[in-house]
Amino acid sequence: GSKESTMSKSTARPNSSVELTHPDRVYWPKEGVTKGGLADYYAEVWPFMEPFVVDRPLALLRCPDGIDGQQFFQKHPWKGINAHITLVTDPKEPAEAPCIAIGDFDGLTGLVQSAALEIHPWGSTTAAWEKPDTIIMDLDPGPGVAWSDVIAAAEEIRDRMKDLGLATFVKTSGGKGLHVVSPLKPSAEWPDAKAFTKDLADRMAADSPDKYVSTIAKAKRGGKILIDYLRNQRGQTAVAPYSTRARPGAPVSMPLAWDELDASLGPAHFTVLNAGKRLAALPSDPWADFRKSAAPLPGAGARKGRAA
Ligand code: ATP
Ligand code: MN
Ligand code: MN
Repeated sequence: GSKESTMSKSTARPNSSVELTHPDRVYWPKEGVTKGGLADYYAEVWPFMEPFVVDRPLALLRCPDGIDGQQFFQKHPWKGINAHITLVTDPKEPAEAPCIAIGDFDGLTGLVQSAALEIHPWGSTTAAWEKPDTIIMDLDPGPGVAWSDVIAAAEEIRDRMKDLGLATFVKTSGGKGLHVVSPLKPSAEWPDAKAFTKDLADRMAADSPDKYVSTIAKAKRGGKILIDYLRNQRGQTAVAPYSTRARPGAPVSMPLAWDELDASLGPAHFTVLNAGKRLAALPSDPWADFRKSAAPLPGAGARKGRAA
């Protein structure tokens, strides 16, 4: 096909030299998505996805027999790991098994070859493990919560973070909720990022106790949205923008523009099968300004100053 994109980005579809064995192996049986189909999906989204997955420690959900088989959540290399996947040593755990990273599209193809059906990066890079450049508020609706209320929660986080000087970007989780993601200048360290996001979640729960909870224990009470800030700790991960999910429907975590949030567009609306069409039709990448919008973590300088 010669379908032209409206964006120059999509024309930079990469090629990989990595050998894909058994491309007909089925990963999402109901949708008929194979290993080869997954590699094609990632080739399509790579120009958009690259900034969010390169040179970060990764956790992977590996499913060698597809989504209905055994699943392995792995932060460390396995026997026979693909040679295009990079091994990186955690500076705080030099004696432990290394962590996993990728440096380029060959690395991503190596992950596909390894049946990594979900890719979960850290919020910091291997250039500065201790200093998050990304924080994420994970909105987990309990049973019975209306989707419009999840959207309202995301918008409230956006507005509160804006008041604190932070830019925010929103994506579907590909599961049940939304992720509000904020780019940081990597200066503050993980404990400050955790304290900041906990404070935000606690304030929202205190201001609207009928709508929000900020602790997993309270989330078991129905009808509320858990504002899960616990991704923002050293070694914790959240699913990457454009990562597939090992769930029925072959959903992906899809970056959106804020004005796209709509009742008609649920958390698993975008999939391996319809993502390419969406990206080709977009007037511009809704997360294009992500990195250039980065600001320092609010208040961290003050905390540091007091500690010094
Ligand atoms: P949802 O919208 O369904 O909540 P999500 O991506 O926000 O989707 P989960 O899939 O529940 O949430 O995962 C939450 C986090 O826990 C993930 O970002 C991941 O880093 C981590 N995680 C996922 N699966 C495992 C696992 N099997 N073992 C340990 N940690 C996991
Ligand atoms: Mn979630
Ligand atoms: Mn969660």
